[in-house]
Amino acid sequence: MAAGKVALVGAGPGHPGLFTERGRQLLGEADAIVFDRLVSPRILAHARPDATLIYAGKEAKCHTLPQRDIEELLIQLAERGLFVVRLKGGDPFVFGRGAEEAIRLEQRGIAWEVVPGISSAVAVPAFAGIPVTLRNAAPGFAVLTGHRADGTLGDVRGAANVHGSLVILMGVGQLAELAAELIAAGRASDTPAAAVEWGTRSRQRSVTGTLADLPAIARRAALASPAVIVIGDVVRVQEQLRWFERLPRFGERILVAAGTNAEALSIAEHLESEGAETCIATLEQRWRPDWQQWAKLVEACTTGTALGVFFRTSFAVRSFWQSLQVAKIDLRRLSQVRFAALDAGVAAQLRRCGIEADFTSLGEVARAKVAAWWAEDVPQVDLSPALRAAIEAFGGPVRTFKGFTEPSFEDIAGVDALRYTWANVLRAWVRDGKPDAVHIVGDPDTLAPLYRDVVGETPITAHTPTQSLCLSCDRTGLPYVLASEWRSNR
Ligand code: SAH
Repeated sequence: MAAGKVALVGAGPGHPGLFTERGRQLLGEADAIVFDRLVSPRILAHARPDATLIYAGKEAKCHTLPQRDIEELLIQLAERGLFVVRLKGGDPFVFGRGAEEAIRLEQRGIAWEVVPGISSAVAVPAFAGIPVTLRNAAPGFAVLTGHRADGTLGDVRGAANVHGSLVILMGVGQLAELAAELIAAGRASDTPAAAVEWGTRSRQRSVTGTLADLPAIARRAALASPAVIVIGDVVRVQEQLRWFERLPRFGERILVAAGTNAEALSIAEHLESEGAETCIATLEQRWRPDWQQWAKLVEACTTGTALGVFFRTSFAVRSFWQSLQVAKIDLRRLSQVRFAALDAGVAAQLRRCGIEADFTSLGEVARAKVAAWWAEDVPQVDLSPALRAAIEAFGGPVRTFKGFTEPSFEDIAGVDALRYTWANVLRAWVRDGKPDAVHIVGDPDTLAPLYRDVVGETPITAHTPTQSLCLSCDRTGLPYVLASEWRSNR
């Protein structure tokens, strides 16, 4: 068996744009991903759809897996020959216990590497409008922990008189004690101070005061972990520099449902640039292509005559395309085949593959001169009898093909209890706060099970499938807006 490897990868503070290029690349290659509580589910969207996702927990005061067990797990997975990404919030070597994990791997002779991440120590203040250094106000900064491994108060006295800013992680639960220590050690009690909770995420909140009154202010606001505390004159410029919270969609949480990850990400990244936090739910995460079925369809397409293929999802189009490539089929051999797309989104995916759909609405399908149809059968959402009848009445018999299966997992000893499915990941995101909107890229009926599973309700009141391109609909049941229109309107 080939030797496995572990990459300790920093996920950054939460915002997906703050994840490194190298991290994204390795995440896309990983067989198994062991992730922490502070890793935002949206970052996991770069994982391979068939990667094993393992939640290692680590809530404050309630470790889901003890550190020693996490280290053992990494070793076990690597010894099975897997490429493991250990995904940690911020930077792995900044209070992340990444160094402990690296030392254990080194001791056991397991290949490893580290991918630094953007630490919350600088990114969270920056997203709250606080620079950690500033000419004439802070020539430097010190990063400290407010909390030692044994649960006692961090030793902050030694840094109290640093000429510059103090940044304290893991300290919000003991803010009063920390402030008292710093004042006792000589830091002026009227030094400006701020605490920023859930920085870079939609829930980002900050409170500001002085070293003396910040603990009471934070308590009244019920500010809790995770939070970064900043102490120093740099806090004075925050009011001028609150850029992130001023973005038009700041605070919005949007679920993007689509056939493929690439489609969902293109919409998600656009929403994020306007300040929204997103999560993606896709058929690609949920289903596995059944390549034998696709090979059969490819064969039928290259040997049959007057055949029509009816695609309902962009994921199916992409799977078909991949099968053509595997079989080394030149597109010119498909000149006999008519292609129908359920909606304009599926047609767009066909276009990306170099095929212009012959039919893109039900009416057109009904008028098609096709001897026999192959229609995509979607798990959980049957071909509607009306559609089947319409196709059959005008274009010969309809056979359905099933290109996907729901995945089953290979057993990994000791891991199954910790294994997350995509639904777990998405539900964890919804538990953090209900989405304000669901953006649907594709036919809402076909994609409904994706978000119904996650959100627990159908956010949609009415729709016309044939009009669906990149649909968007909010929870108040507002009518759909084509995403293309919606984009150009902003
Ligand atoms: N390795 C991480 C730090 C891990 S310790 C890094 O480099 O960022 C966990 C602490 O990080 C939390 O208690 C909190 O103080 C801070 N933290 C991490 N993410 C945060 C976020 N999004 N908002 C506020 N604080 C965060």
